Amino acid sequence: MTELSLRGLTKRFGAYTAVEDVTLDIPNGQFVCLLGPSGCGKTTLLRLIAGLEEPSAGQILVEGADQTDVPTHRRGFGMVFQSLALFPHLTVAQNIAYPLAIRGVGRAAQARRVAELLDLVQLPDLGDRRVHQLSGGQRQRVAIARGLAIDPKVFLLDEPLSALDANLREHMQVELRQLQQRLGVTTVVVTHDQKEALTMADLLIVMDRGRVQQMGAPMDLYRDPANAFVAGFIGSTNLLPGRLVGGVLEVGGQAIRLADGDRVKCAEGAAVLSVRPEDVRFAEAGLPARVSFVRDLGESVQFRLDLDGREVTALFAPRDRPAVGLGDTVHLAFEPGRRVVLAP
Ligand code: ATP
Repeated sequence: MTELSLRGLTKRFGAYTAVEDVTLDIPNGQFVCLLGPSGCGKTTLLRLIAGLEEPSAGQILVEGADQTDVPTHRRGFGMVFQSLALFPHLTVAQNIAYPLAIRGVGRAAQARRVAELLDLVQLPDLGDRRVHQLSGGQRQRVAIARGLAIDPKVFLLDEPLSALDANLREHMQVELRQLQQRLGVTTVVVTHDQKEALTMADLLIVMDRGRVQQMGAPMDLYRDPANAFVAGFIGSTNLLPGRLVGGVLEVGGQAIRLADGDRVKCAEGAAVLSVRPEDVRFAEAGLPARVSFVRDLGESVQFRLDLDGREVTALFAPRDRPAVGLGDTVHLAFEPGRRVVLAP
């Protein structure tokens, strides 16, 4: 198990900065998801860690030892790419054995390790198949087994499940997580799918425009986002502009006195209130809004509300469904202790 540290890691392509000044520590055995919108620099950051890109500045450390100038194959990391990059002319067993073969591991030891890995990824009888004779999920497992063959210090995966259909993908998310927990290998996975990240990760790293916006446990990011970008990217949220004056938040002409548990992430003055849909209430008094859409999702009921031309979403459990319908006016209140005040 390995601690991975990045220090001021930066990558420029010409005048464009794809990864900017990333400093963070990933503790031993953690499952980390790198999450962010397309083009934010996730893949570039993973490739820097792997040694497939040379940093413009900064360092990569493993257990405190500088890896920045260590070539990829000497870092002892396992990798799975989005394309899987399996060799079509080799059998499953030969694919899995490949990283061992190029490191000069003897045939008998290769065969033992391959058998172990095939068991691990639950493909015990498929060693002699060719890659094109496998299903998408089976190929995924072969790529994972190959990535784990050298018993890597760090396991790096770039969108490993993106080619799978929704059901299989969910299944593989759980399987990958269970496998990682069993092995305890420090793992970094790139994904742009926040639900996938929430399913698998101990820690999320949310990136935007080459910079880390926030790193933390999924529920900490959900409850305590550092900024409006993270609030909107992890789960869904309502963002309402307001002003923070003397510890009181003014939104839509009403004063909201902040309570214990509410988070304030900005200075006095212009501010944005972030409230999750499940924390919006219909109250006796509050901000008047009109019901513009109601959707029964079975497990929950979603109301969309028009608040002075701004859309607010509220989510209720079916048993708490308020007795209001389309066009009705309601008064919105926001659950004390669950409100986050952010910089605009
Ligand atoms: P996606 O989710 O779409 O894969 P990403 O977050 O993984 O996106 P990166 O692939 O890391 O994003 O790319 C970050 C930015 O750097 C993009 O704007 C991309 O065009 C740019 N970039 C990546 N590789 C190169 C390269 N070799 N030369 C020039 N620009 C590059």
